[in-house]
Amino acid sequence: MPQLSGVERVRREIRTQMMATDAKKIWMDGKLVDSADAKVHVLGHTLHYGVGVFEGIRCYRTNRGPAIFRLEEHVKRLVASARIYRMPLPYSEAEIIRAIEETQAANDIVPSYIRPILYRGEPALGVKNQKGRVSLAVAAIPAKKYLGENSESGVRAKISPFRKPHSDAIPSVAKADGNYTNSYLAGIDAAEDGYEEAILLDQNGYVAEGTGENIFLVRNGTVYTPGPESDILLGVTRASVIEIARDLGYTVIEKLLSVSELLTAEEAFFSGTYAEIAPIREVSHYVIGNGKPGRVTRDIMDVFYKLIRGEEPKYARWLHLVAPVVKAVPRPVRRAAST
Ligand code: PMP
Repeated sequence: MPQLSGVERVRREIRTQMMATDAKKIWMDGKLVDSADAKVHVLGHTLHYGVGVFEGIRCYRTNRGPAIFRLEEHVKRLVASARIYRMPLPYSEAEIIRAIEETQAANDIVPSYIRPILYRGEPALGVKNQKGRVSLAVAAIPAKKYLGENSESGVRAKISPFRKPHSDAIPSVAKADGNYTNSYLAGIDAAEDGYEEAILLDQNGYVAEGTGENIFLVRNGTVYTPGPESDILLGVTRASVIEIARDLGYTVIEKLLSVSELLTAEEAFFSGTYAEIAPIREVSHYVIGNGKPGRVTRDIMDVFYKLIRGEEPKYARWLHLVAPVVKAVPRPVRRAAST
């Protein structure tokens, strides 16, 4: 195979990240349908205006069977996102949880990336049109390393020319489809320049987050991360990292972070469901620390990667076990007795 340049490698990784075609069965409003039949109408409201809300959730292999990481928190955020967009929910939290469990069990893929989405898929044009029924779909696909092969040794990130919109315009705490036009622009710009990820600033020029991750810095042994005033999504992994870091004895401070604080940090890392915990070794050509994952990042990663495998009893409450599908054992074919 010909040697790929850095840019080509990043482009190829971006192209192969999410193999949505690997989904087998997709849960659509109560029915598990074949992936090829999981369709919506081309005049659906969500497709035209981006008003839909979704989640990204991971299911891991543990010694007690497949376990979904912080499922309840993800479903709570999904429901909160739907409330912000005034989408009347046809399902309770318990029903959404059940749908996710069913999808995971039916696809029987571990580790998996689970994607529930609430959308209006019936023909309903007109921005203010709220009449279309709100539907739920859930898919489970094989999980990969989001930020490519350097995910655990350190990725390169570019400070994006595309800033986060202010929450007065688009509320960042809702995980809504439309928010990702911004992430898309920043993400492809960084990828075209050969970086694994983009770092977006808020409207005041403070560090906000990645295209699909929150960001942390370490300075003088203290852990810092931007707070909600920087128009970020309040990540489930972010909350987990904060708790793990504090349990390890580190001080964690949420505050506005300037670009120079980022560029001169001793350590930096991303956190997110798909990215998990990914050290950042370079930001826009500035090497962070010595270009390798630092001690604080490694301490937090050690606990995180153990707990998702069910090896940290202290955090067992974050793992939602899913019963595997019991496959029918084929019965031995009895031969008719010869006469
Ligand atoms: N910020 C953005 C913009 C995201 O899309 C995500 C991924 N959901 C995150 C942060 C991280 O959130 P979480 O840890 O809940 O996946």
